[in-house]
Amino acid sequence: MIYLDTAASYPILSEVRLALSEAFESMYANSASNHFLGEKVSHEINVVREQLADEIGAYPSEIIFTSGATESNNIAFKSFLLGAEIPTDKKHIVTTEIEHKCIFSICDYLKSLGYEITYVKPNKCGTIDVDSIVNAIRLDTALVSVMHVNNELGTINPIAEIGKVCFNAGVLFHSDAAQSFKKIDIDVDDLNVDIMSFSAHKIGGPKGIGAIYIRDLRKKHLIPVIHGAGQEDGLRGGTVAAPLIIGFGKAIEIFSNYYEKFKLLQIRSYLLEQLNLNEIKYQINGSELALESCVSLTLPNTNIEVLVRKNENELCLAQGSACSSKEIEPSHVLIALGLDRELADHTFRVSFSLDISTNELDFFIAEISEATTNKI
Ligand SMILES: *Cc1c(COP(=O)(O)O)cnc(C)c1O
Repeated sequence: MIYLDTAASYPILSEVRLALSEAFESMYANSASNHFLGEKVSHEINVVREQLADEIGAYPSEIIFTSGATESNNIAFKSFLLGAEIPTDKKHIVTTEIEHKCIFSICDYLKSLGYEITYVKPNKCGTIDVDSIVNAIRLDTALVSVMHVNNELGTINPIAEIGKVCFNAGVLFHSDAAQSFKKIDIDVDDLNVDIMSFSAHKIGGPKGIGAIYIRDLRKKHLIPVIHGAGQEDGLRGGTVAAPLIIGFGKAIEIFSNYYEKFKLLQIRSYLLEQLNLNEIKYQINGSELALESCVSLTLPNTNIEVLVRKNENELCLAQGSACSSKEIEPSHVLIALGLDRELADHTFRVSFSLDISTNELDFFIAEISEATTNKI
């Protein structure tokens, strides 16, 4: 099996699996219990909180653990906008056409409550221009949300510059960092973000755990997304998932080591070189200036259906759209970049495991080659 879908979820790293199983065994107490074991669990949670805070240049008191980036994004929008934090006459949101799907569904909900949303288009390179954000901000804008790295293209947005614009306009700025965290450096002050979302399973941690950074959290008046018994500063009720948080901590600790080694291998360039050598026509969606671990390719002369069907038990690959399953629409990101249905059908995203071998890649390339009719 060749797993080329790590942008959807990264396999659990073995060190994380070990940390998880130890934590499930010994860290079972409720972190709110005031006996020694509860306090130990609470301490371990706060160690990871501190670790994450250090990692991004924040204070531990500004980190809330959530179930993942989707929940963090919900907090970023709903806890702020529906709370007392934002003046009630500010009901405009600026976000982009290339966000993760969950942002659209949050925005649809807020729209039903009377909010207006401006969806900014990406440029040809699949990133968001600072000017387009400047143009979209209005006097009644309450929140700007732009993802750090796009999950389909791997492209990196100019978050620091956009953050500066928002700061100068006095508008809250949120960025979804699920894809960038531990792959590129993040410092919340350098990036000028007020709110940032994180997910563990994109970096080899367990699913069902993530975090949100909220600048000066203790001074904010936010509405909980889950009303509960006061956990996580009252913002996110429910017994804190200590073992998952400990697994998340392990992933935070080690993922970059693997990522830095992977970058040196230049696997992405190797794939593109081999496509050239095999005379397979391709176009990169977005730009070459993207994460080393991810590339969106349109191969106009390749029958992606054949490639996928022939290797259905071998290749895990994210398709730009799938014509066989009638339900599946072409990806909104590809549409935003101007691809039509036909081109979207010839598109897939490759997101590498950090331990992929050249043998596996060569097999993949040979299969692409076989599914390609007209060579260049
Ligand atoms: C995966 C992903 C999410 C969703 O994260 P979960 O932790 O699975 O909720 C949100 N945003 C981006 C950019 C992602 O890649």
